[in-house]
Formats: sequence, structure tokens, C-alpha cells
Amino acid sequence: MRPKVLAGNWKMHKTQQEAVAFLQEFLGKLVDTPSDREIVLCVPYTCLSVLSKSLHGTRVKLGAQNVHWADQGAFTGEISPPMLVELGVRYVIIGHSERRQYFGETDATVNQRLKAAQSHGLTPILCVGETKAQRDAGETENHIFQQLALDLVDVDQSNLVIAYEPIWAIGTGDTCEETEANRVIGLIRSKLQNPDVPIQYGGSVNANNIDAIMAQPEIDGVLVGGASLQPESFGRIVNYKP
Ligand code: PEP
Repeated sequence: MRPKVLAGNWKMHKTQQEAVAFLQEFLGKLVDTPSDREIVLCVPYTCLSVLSKSLHGTRVKLGAQNVHWADQGAFTGEISPPMLVELGVRYVIIGHSERRQYFGETDATVNQRLKAAQSHGLTPILCVGETKAQRDAGETENHIFQQLALDLVDVDQSNLVIAYEPIWAIGTGDTCEETEANRVIGLIRSKLQNPDVPIQYGGSVNANNIDAIMAQPEIDGVLVGGASLQPESFGRIVNYKP
């Protein structure tokens, strides 16, 4: 059985104070959460330290939103794998479309980050997905297969999560039909050496569509942006009904 991984991506939201207030309320939502699911919060670097302490002894795992490939060096503004490990980080998002679109992330740098994260015991959440133009041109499969081929060179598929995130569905309220997300995720799985890699769907997941998304057989979890910012909605998401 592949694990179910439900991850929030806070992006550039929440101060430390806001993060602690979120957590106090969110932990209260987990009283009856079934044990078959992994819950992850991928928070800004500035919230890692305080949340690491607050999450101690809870079932919620800490995640970051990016990581550099070097252990240390002259890379102003970057954060290294040992720095994350020291703070108790377990997961790290790599290759999010916002990194690729706004910060010049390439498949080559994504590959370097993936290998570095794994070499320090972090579990990467690799994001792949097509633009609206690529989908309209019938290029969805080719584009994703190319991303996978380049991103996964020499990457250990026994310590990996993949998130299928159609870019046109991120932050738009325009969710990909769950059967279509299921189809694409099945195709992604067919390209992997390890069919047990958990593959998430991401793109406008919310408290209302989570049950239908998680009912799809290929979908092993979700990566959630906007709806992970409120304890109420993220609580409903992690308590999805199978
Ligand atoms: C994301 O940031 O990965 C994401 C899927 O965002 P949203 O849920 O807001 O669409």
C-alpha cells in the first residue's frame, strides 16, 4: 500500500506568530484523523525553527519549500540540506512551478537539488505539470515525461514523492477533473522504476473537492496551497473521507 501524503504549501505566507496560532488550532483537528495518512506542513524558512519545536511529539511532519544542492558556500540567499536537517525538516518541495516560472529553476537544477536533499535523508516532493498552452496543444504527456526524464536522473525512487500540479490549476480555483488527474498520474507512474512512489495531485484542492480527489485510485495524496492556510480547511482536507 502506497502511503497517503497530505502536504500544505504555505508559500510566502505567515509570520512565526501566525504559524504558531495556526498550529494550535490545527492540532485540535487531528484528534480523529486516521493513522493511514502522513501530514506535512511546508512552511517559509523563517517559520521552521519555531514550528520544529511546536511539532515535537505530534504526527505532523515539517517541510521546506526549496533547498540548495551544496552543503555550504558562497550562495547568498540560499539554504542548504544540513541547515534544514538540523531544524528537524523531513520533506522539501523541489521544482514547484513558481520556482521554475519566477526564479529560473531548470530541470538541471531541480535534479541537483533532488539528489542533494536525498543524500541528507530529506524526502523531496518533486513538482511537475503542464501549462494551459501545453495542455491545449496536446503536449501534456510529452512535457511531463520530459520533466521526469531530466529531473529524475540518478534520483533514488525509494525516497521520493511526486506532485502532479497542472500549472493552470494552481491558485485559480480551476481544479483539474479528478478523473483526468488520475489518468495523468497513472501515466507518470508508468514511467517510474518504482511504482510505489506516492504521487500527489495539486491545484486548487479544497475542503469541498478533497473526498472526490482522494477517491481516485492513482492519487496518493495532495499538495495544497491556499486551502492549507486556514486550520479549518486544511483540517477538513487531512480528515478526507475515503
Ligand atoms: C501549490 O501551491 O502547490 C498549489 C497547488 O496551490 P493551490 O492549492 O492554491 O492551487
